[in-house]
Amino acid sequence: MKYNRILLKLSGEALMGNHKYGIDPDRLDQYATEIKKVRDRGVELAIVIGGGNIYRGVQAESAGIDRVQGDYMGMLATVINGMALQSSLENHGMFTRLMSGLKMEQVCEPFIRRRAIRHLEKGRIVIFGAGLGNPYFTTDSTASLRAVEIEADVVLKGTRVDGVYSADPEKDPKATKYSSISFQEAYEKGLNIMDMTAFTLCMENSLPIVVFDMNKPGNLNRVLNGEEVGTLIT
Ligand code: UDP
Repeated sequence: MKYNRILLKLSGEALMGNHKYGIDPDRLDQYATEIKKVRDRGVELAIVIGGGNIYRGVQAESAGIDRVQGDYMGMLATVINGMALQSSLENHGMFTRLMSGLKMEQVCEPFIRRRAIRHLEKGRIVIFGAGLGNPYFTTDSTASLRAVEIEADVVLKGTRVDGVYSADPEKDPKATKYSSISFQEAYEKGLNIMDMTAFTLCMENSLPIVVFDMNKPGNLNRVLNGEEVGTLIT
């Protein structure tokens, strides 16, 4: 096994599946199936989930809501997704804890680093909800910081594209995919892997990132086998 403790970042948007908004139960079920296979191999798993399928801070201003308020709304959206994911994982027989960056004791534990690590050691899947609990951050920055804090071996960024390309593959047919690239080169080329805050945090702490297509069945396991899936950034 290439990695023993991973931080899996799932975007909120991916949870929509073919819908225009909210959570697609089939997609949720598919993710739980993939995650179960990984968990059954003894991998310690922490998950950060986005909120873009429900709310994004940047869209607030056009609705007359100030940015900070909007960001808190986005954080709450990630808790909703986290709760849905938690239920789905439990339906598949996994033990989970939802830890929140904002206090909401009735639904989740507060994030306490030592406790998070203990949960992982006991084989529980830890979901980090409400991002970092601060506005002007994203769930990508949450993924990077939490990964460093819990000493994860890697950040696995599950997306709907199968890696990092030289240009946007959905717009430029000449775009080519990198199987691996260094942080430095990715920075110089201005490749859009994560937002700068998240990217820098990984780079400064030598925490590798793998960008891969989470929607392709079996891919998550292939990444753990060390197979050439997606793009590895080191
Ligand atoms: N957010 C925030 N601080 C955090 C994490 C998230 O303010 O630490 C807000 C931010 O407004 C963001 C929203 O929550 O737009 C939803 O998260 P994100 O856009 O990262 O989700 P994704 O794009 O992965 O679905």
